[in-house]
Amino acid sequence: MIDVSTRETRHSFYVSTDWIKLRDKVLTRDNYECIWCKAEGKVTTRKRAVLEVDHIKELEHYPQHALDINNLRTLCKDCHNKRHNRYQQSAKKFDDEEFSW
Ligand SMILES: [Zn+2]
Repeated sequence: MIDVSTRETRHSFYVSTDWIKLRDKVLTRDNYECIWCKAEGKVTTRKRAVLEVDHIKELEHYPQHALDINNLRTLCKDCHNKRHNRYQQSAKKFDDEEFSW
């Protein structure tokens, strides 16, 4: 089981080769498009936005699904922030808590 219980171990996870490889697979699978924007009929690719790979079942609570491709989806930064309700939080806090890809 992957340990993601602390900020440090989550950091190690997000820089691991396994994650980086899988993240690329997810981006390829989703055609480098935000799937939430796509559902609204908008095309958001990495030319127009920062794309991030989101854990549908959150990493912190479901570490057993950390490397499950079916638990991952491509979101643009805006949608990802919406999902985690980060609009009210400072940019600094965001950077501290999770890596932005
Ligand atoms: Zn989006």
